[in-house]
This record gives sequence, structure tokens and C-alpha cells, in this order.
Amino acid sequence: MTTAIPEILAPAGSLDKLKVAILYGAHAVYVGGQKFGLRTAAENFTLDELREGVAFAHERNAKVYVVLNSFLHDKDLEELPDFVSFLDEIKVDAVIVSDLGVVKTVRQLSNIHIHISTQASTLNVEAAKLWKKMGATRIVLGREVSVKEAGKIKREADVEIEMFIHGSMCMAYSGHCVISNFTQGRDSNRGGCAHSCRFEYSLDMGLDTEEKKKAFFMSSKDLEGLRVLPEFINEGIDSLKIEGRMKSHLYAGTMSKIYSEALEYYSQHGNFLSENLLEWEAELKKVSHRAYTEASLVDKAGADSIFNEREVSNDSEWQMVGAVVEASPKTGIILEVRNAFNQGDELEFIPFRGKAIKVQANEIMDIAMRSVQRTRPSTLARLPYVEGIGPYHLIRQKGRK
Ligand code: SF4
Repeated sequence: MTTAIPEILAPAGSLDKLKVAILYGAHAVYVGGQKFGLRTAAENFTLDELREGVAFAHERNAKVYVVLNSFLHDKDLEELPDFVSFLDEIKVDAVIVSDLGVVKTVRQLSNIHIHISTQASTLNVEAAKLWKKMGATRIVLGREVSVKEAGKIKREADVEIEMFIHGSMCMAYSGHCVISNFTQGRDSNRGGCAHSCRFEYSLDMGLDTEEKKKAFFMSSKDLEGLRVLPEFINEGIDSLKIEGRMKSHLYAGTMSKIYSEALEYYSQHGNFLSENLLEWEAELKKVSHRAYTEASLVDKAGADSIFNEREVSNDSEWQMVGAVVEASPKTGIILEVRNAFNQGDELEFIPFRGKAIKVQANEIMDIAMRSVQRTRPSTLARLPYVEGIGPYHLIRQKGRK
């Protein structure tokens, strides 16, 4: 049995992460330029990096969407035309937009597809129809919509639908919140959100002890929709988005790999085996995350979607130690070290498909072939060659918080 599968859309906070996500199976990535996006703290792409990223993606049949989803004042809007013309020239596949002024500018100056950002909080058929009439080719629905509701919107508005399947959640209707503005002076609707909802707050409502007064009232668990994949497919959802342009290479690679692998499996077999689901879920837990929730994908999110334990969770004991630069029987494995490891440590190399390859680092050399006991961050190291390991494979290690 073969079923059409939605696109897996991964976050790419840098050119390196774009390559990692695509090589690990993402069908599309979303990226930000230096301006107009909602992640001012992300590394973001220069014009040259955007050009290179689009070429890299297109050579591998993947797509690149550029976020222009900040809300702009007139002064900001004046600077947009040059950037839109550039994006048109390098043939980006779409822009992600929430401001009507930006929609109009993009339509006037280019034929670039317009995806309406989740920031616009589209929750119903009529809103989707209106966006389509204004030139949108895709709507990224608000995270408050269930998969069933999304299927209805898709059928009745006849427009491409994108939904979030994984990542951090916003306690407000995506971004329509000013806690960050008031507490940190950082505007959540203009790329500055400080995630203030995840901080600990006191509540003075007559509670009797200090302990009871303090809690993470507004801190959401992270979204994880692996077991909802069949419903996304059945409802004809076009694109499944992974949140997290500010997150790590390990996150971009792991999420792209697991969700695309699971989708491929389901499209070929029409079901999941519980042992596969358990294996994929274990992999999703090997990156930094809070407790997971399906949020509103099936039923409305309730009290159990609040992460009321601590401000930041790094439940994973795993940490990325580096990435492979080159690997052959002649050169051995040359890797770029991000976090130091020692002789004798057990490393896991993550191939683009299939299970991680365990390697005991008994023999480490530096690039000049001198034996070393402990590697150093931001240097190259060499290990003996192991079959199945190749360039861009990420390497992780347990017990390295
Ligand atoms: S502070 Fe929290 S609720 Fe507010 S915009 Fe940021 S993530 Fe969303």
C-alpha cells in the first residue's frame, strides 16, 4: 500500500543546520534572513548564505521557505522591496508572512508563494478562504486547531495546510502576548520573545505557604505528534512543521530523521509497529526537551499540558560531541569536535537512515596524526574508519549534560 505523505518541514537557524536537516530527510526547511523574521536571536542567514542554502536544497529536491513574519512599521516596510527582489532572484520556494503590508509587497514585486504564518492565528474556514483570495497558497494554522478541524479547513477552503508537529509551544495564541515586552523589554511580535512564560512566578491569591505560591503557571510542555501521524495523513495535511530555529544541530538532524523515517514507514506499510514507535520516541528524547504533550492536536489542550516542574528541562542525558567532516578507509574518520571527549568513551554516530552506530574511541589522533587522550572543542580529530559512517553524520555521547 502506498499513501501520499506530507512534507516534513524542519527549522534551519544557520546554513549548517539547513544542510543537516535536509541530509537527515527534511523535505523543506524554513530560514530567516537578517531582518523581518521572528527570531532576532537566531544566527540568521546572510544574502550569500541564503543563495547557497537554496542551491543546496534544490540540488536535493528540497524546498526553502524564508520567514518574513514580523509585524512591520512603515519604516521597516520601506526596506522590504530589495529583500523580496533578492529572494525572487534566488528562487526561494515561499515566504512565510503574517503582516498584510508584507503580503501586499510580496505580491506586487514577485511571484513567490505566500504562506500565512501561524502568527496570523488562522483557526477557521472563512479566514483561510479570505487569505487564499488575497494570494496565499498555504496557511500555517494556529496551534490551537485539531488535526480534524484542519482537515475540514483544507477541504472547504481548498488551500495547502501546514501544522506544527513538534517543538516548543507558546502559551498565548502564537505570539499574541506581551509578557516578554513587559518583563524583558523584548517584543514577541517583532522577533524578541524571551520565553517569559517559562519562568517561575508567584501567585498572591491567599495561598498559605510560599511554596504553594510559586509555580510555572504558564510554562507549556513541548509538542510531540509522532503517534498522530496517521491522522495528519488521513486528513490530507500538506506540511508538518518542526519548531525550533534557535535549537541545536542535533535537534535539527534528529527531528528531521525520525519524522521523515516514520512517515516513510507508514506510507509503505499503512501502520506502525509498537516497537518502532517506542524506538522513535526514545530517539526524540535524546535531544534537550521538556515533557511532551500532544497539545491540541487531538483534543483541546488542558491542565496536563502545563509543565509545572522547573523552568528549563534538559531531560536528555545526551549531548552532541561533533560532526563528521570526512570518512574513508584511507583517511579514517575526521570529525569536527564541538564538545570534548576522552579516549575510551563510547560515541554514537547517527547515520541519515537506520540505527545509530556505536564506536568506542580507543584510538584518537589529532589532524597531524599525533595520539591524544582528550579532544578539544573546535578542533579536528581523527578516529579509525568504521563502515557506514560518512560526512555530515552527527555524533552524540551519553552522560554529558
Ligand atoms: S513569552 Fe511565551 S507566550 Fe509569550 S510570546 Fe513568548 S513563548 Fe509565547
